[in-house]
Amino acid sequence: MKKEIESGYLIGKIDELLDKVGCPICKLTVESVDDNIDALFYENVNDPSERKKFSSGPGFCPKHLKMVEDHLRAHPELGILGVSVLYGTISDEIIHALDGESINFGKNCQMCAVERGAERRYLDLFAQYISNEERLKRYENSISMVCLTHTNELLNRNTNFKRVQISKMERVINALKEFIRKNDYRYSKEPIFVMEGEAWRIISQFLS
Ligand SMILES: [Zn+2]
Ligand SMILES: [Zn+2]
Repeated sequence: MKKEIESGYLIGKIDELLDKVGCPICKLTVESVDDNIDALFYENVNDPSERKKFSSGPGFCPKHLKMVEDHLRAHPELGILGVSVLYGTISDEIIHALDGESINFGKNCQMCAVERGAERRYLDLFAQYISNEERLKRYENSISMVCLTHTNELLNRNTNFKRVQISKMERVINALKEFIRKNDYRYSKEPIFVMEGEAWRIISQFLS
């Protein structure tokens, strides 16, 4: 029963994300990593096993270092004691690295593990979402666009997905061309539609 409620809630979240530019699977995954970063600095940093996970990374990978920095900047209420304690646990490695030892910082980044798990779950969830014809249609007509990486993961799970993605991308490319055309002074009186102004961002997120 709990599982049903949970997936009902997540299906609702996908419904919401269809109204936004970008890949719903990427967005849910990033949100999940961000929640984890928040929990880590909110209370888990006091947990010795969490500190152990960090020091056996050792530390975070560059991508998640950046996410942590952004998160702490956006949430000053979390303070900087937690992150200082964590970084203190790898001080020896930092000095050793400067002394010529080859240390692969972030090789076993704990947030990469969180990200991989979340990505799997949300891929499954999205595959379940589009297995319903009506919802697949809703996705097809939406401004959201599953990124190239996740498209490749979904192709063998849903036989209609390739057709949907191609037709969506053709519409985006047409909108992009329309945007370019309307920037010509001869057509500058024609209104620019939302999709036309957003086309570059849809493509950018599709490729990122
Ligand atoms: Zn994606
Ligand atoms: Zn990482």
